[in-house]
Amino acid sequence: STDTPSLDAHWMPFTANRQFKQAPRLLARAEGMHYWTQEGRQVLDGVAGLWCVNAGHARPRIVQAIAQQASVLDYAPPFQMGHPQAFELAEELVKLTPPGLDKVFFTNSGSESVETALKMALAYHHVRGEGSRTRLIGRERGYHGVNFGGISVGGIVGNRKLFGTLLSGVDHIRHTHDPARNAFSFGQPAHGAELADDLERLCALHDASTIAAVIVEPVAGSTGVLLPPQGYLQRLRAICDRHGILLIFDEVITGFGRTGQPFAAQTFGVTPDLMTVAKGLTNGCVPMGAVFAKSAIHDAFMRGPEQAIEFPHGYTYSAHPLACAAALATLQTYAEENLLTRASALHEHFGRALHALRGLPHVVDVRNIGLVGGVELAPLPDAPGKRAFDVFLDCWEQGVLIRTTGDTVALSPPLIIEKAHIDRIVDTLAGALRRAA
Ligand code: PMP
Repeated sequence: STDTPSLDAHWMPFTANRQFKQAPRLLARAEGMHYWTQEGRQVLDGVAGLWCVNAGHARPRIVQAIAQQASVLDYAPPFQMGHPQAFELAEELVKLTPPGLDKVFFTNSGSESVETALKMALAYHHVRGEGSRTRLIGRERGYHGVNFGGISVGGIVGNRKLFGTLLSGVDHIRHTHDPARNAFSFGQPAHGAELADDLERLCALHDASTIAAVIVEPVAGSTGVLLPPQGYLQRLRAICDRHGILLIFDEVITGFGRTGQPFAAQTFGVTPDLMTVAKGLTNGCVPMGAVFAKSAIHDAFMRGPEQAIEFPHGYTYSAHPLACAAALATLQTYAEENLLTRASALHEHFGRALHALRGLPHVVDVRNIGLVGGVELAPLPDAPGKRAFDVFLDCWEQGVLIRTTGDTVALSPPLIIEKAHIDRIVDTLAGALRRAA
């Protein structure tokens, strides 16, 4: 309803409410697969909050770990000292990462992880005497958070255009998403890998020896769940290797089981040099992000040339004890319940349910892998995003939380989801699509 205008006088939720002048929806409680609104309505969570509550809401083990930690060691400075949980967490995390990514740097968000990874890449080249490698390459339609580095390498022009002072020397790989042609579409299409060769164009254009790093999301989440064609990420890897360029995977969304393996790097069989995560790291309970790096890259960044840089980079809340406790309990939950591979077991059921939406009104494409899915709608002629947003509102009224990114409906439910929940979400979405103008 729109009759509560006083609510947002001093604080305003982000774009979904602003975009179409909707009053905020107030959440009061969460447990397992569900939210409850302020009015007491139960809502099935089809997006794990914001792609983050991978083990489901309010898991007692995680809640208790946070409370216990707060009562024992509430804060520890991350400079010149540490605390046992931080070391333990790093050790547990690198058991999950692809081989070689065995150093961890803790941040407080996905955006901070991205900034950190970009700086690490530059520091690495600098320490190796390749200080002229300063260019960074992102990808059109890439999303890497909202800080200056992230919006510079990010491929969303609208996020950049108001802010003059961006990183210089940045360029973007073309990302041709054409549902009709079906690259970056359906399951993982067998054609379209050659689109990665646009990176070779940039290498020729800029002189490859000036390029420090390439950053991509293995699956672009916030711009509409765009899956890489088979062989696409391999091709990016090969081009980077040929030219001595570091490859960064932004796994803020895809990390922690979303695509059926702990990380998309494993799902797609491509190991990057740096990997950014956040969200599922703490099951969304406490803000925390991390960068996983090959040792040589991490160490170049942390120690600097000739060990001279004493204070290169770090956050007051890096490796925060509450976040470490939450993350450790989250990893235990993932392990005990085999959640990090559960998406691969449900991939088929989820995919079949989603693809049944093809042929319904407005649906132009359906994309899915593991437990992440996108249903792309034809936009209303004069109001991009409005049709999908109306579908979101309809589902909300029916008690199902989905998410929209432009005119794509995005689904990324908690990994504890049961098949009956999947069916309920997809049936509700189908009803909303049939009703949509
Ligand atoms: N990178 C990617 C791929 C993301 O999806 C997001 C957030 N959706 C971010 C970075 C930024 O994360 P945060 O909002 O935690 O800063």
